[in-house]
Amino acid sequence: MSTRVRFAPSPTGFLHIGGARTALFNWLYARHTGGKFILRIEDTDAARNSQEAVNVILDGLRWLGLDWDEGPLTGDATGQCKGDFGPYFQSQRGALYKRRVEELKDKGLAYEDAGAVKFRMTRDPILIPDVVVGNVTRELTDREQVDPDFVIVRSDGQPVFHFVNVVDDLEMKITHVIRGEDHLSNTAKHIALFRAFGVEPPCYAHIPLILNIDGTKMSKRDRGASMTTYMDEGYLPAAVVNYLCLLGWSPKGNREKMPIEEVISLFDLPQILRHNARFDMDKLQWLNGEYLREVGDEQFRAEGERAFRRAGLPLEKFTPAYIRSALDTCKGKLKWFGELPAYAGFYFTDMVNIDPAALTKDFTPEAKTRIGKLRDAFAGTEEFTAARLEQTLKAVAAQLGIKAGPLVHPTRLACTGSSAGPSLYHLLEILGKERVIQRLDRAMELSGYSG
Ligand code: GLU
Repeated sequence: MSTRVRFAPSPTGFLHIGGARTALFNWLYARHTGGKFILRIEDTDAARNSQEAVNVILDGLRWLGLDWDEGPLTGDATGQCKGDFGPYFQSQRGALYKRRVEELKDKGLAYEDAGAVKFRMTRDPILIPDVVVGNVTRELTDREQVDPDFVIVRSDGQPVFHFVNVVDDLEMKITHVIRGEDHLSNTAKHIALFRAFGVEPPCYAHIPLILNIDGTKMSKRDRGASMTTYMDEGYLPAAVVNYLCLLGWSPKGNREKMPIEEVISLFDLPQILRHNARFDMDKLQWLNGEYLREVGDEQFRAEGERAFRRAGLPLEKFTPAYIRSALDTCKGKLKWFGELPAYAGFYFTDMVNIDPAALTKDFTPEAKTRIGKLRDAFAGTEEFTAARLEQTLKAVAAQLGIKAGPLVHPTRLACTGSSAGPSLYHLLEILGKERVIQRLDRAMELSGYSG
């Protein structure tokens, strides 16, 4: 029997990193087994639904490259993936749910109660076999022992989550339900419903939650919780996918950076880790940096420009060649594009921000005399190229009988405002003589010594 799995998000206007991981694990399992990955939007709660909320999910899945394999044909562009089909929407399947309610009523397993429809829940404890969590027996709570029956259609005619979720899993012939552990507590109800329809429940795999690095529960507002962050801040989808693979699943040998094809071939449900995963932003960024090193020049430049613009830097005042050269000095130096404005924003500002403490340290009266010599040597350099500037600086150092360092550090500070950044001689070449001289003069002025 071929595997059929599904991702069944409710459109909340937010794609949580945990939801993205659930989608990914389902997708990986489908690809590993050669089965089907189905996307089903659980949008029966009309009050909260909107096309925008659905788009957040679709955009997130597309960005991650998690393509779904079937769905109703759509003429519009709401959910096109590989073919001309969208995801399934529960809101479009009302007739089906009605029929299934009637079926249970006919069997005597559902009944009207104060305008609602209730399911006659089994009184026996239910064993939940779970590939990840193990076997869990769900005993009835005290309240449930008195009355375990539960509502499946509200008095306003809306079928409830448990019911539509099971009917769809059954109709869609889902073989494996892979979802967050928060749903484990619902599973006894779901199993009872499957049995009421005379169908054996699917195989369950409940994935442990994702916690913050400090072990606290991850909330919507925590940094990194929303997929939008990664999409907007220029992370690489391949890196985010790779990181999500490691959040609760682990290949042998502590491997970390892995091509997705390899993950697909190794991924299996029993290896999903039993303990809660901890979200580690530093590790995600490190992994992103590993992928960033492999990105082609064109993509690097395009994403880099985007990051500068997002930070509000006035790129329009600079030539494309200047922007391009500036970005080329950043390649291989970043973990993620969010670092770019702090790393190389100095290329696009009129006045660099210099930390006064660093200035006082680097621009002592003695240092200023030396920097003044370097400044004059730079001003007299015809060919303002990295190679020539390096020679010039070294020649000045030799004349002064000092090493290059005491000239390099203040020059970098004056021109970039920072003590770390792209290769000094290259960045000086790109800034050009005029800016470099201006910045050296300004730093000397600012340093406040009458040197
Ligand atoms: N709509 C449910 C949710 O978003 C899906 C539960 C399931 O995967 O069965 O949590």
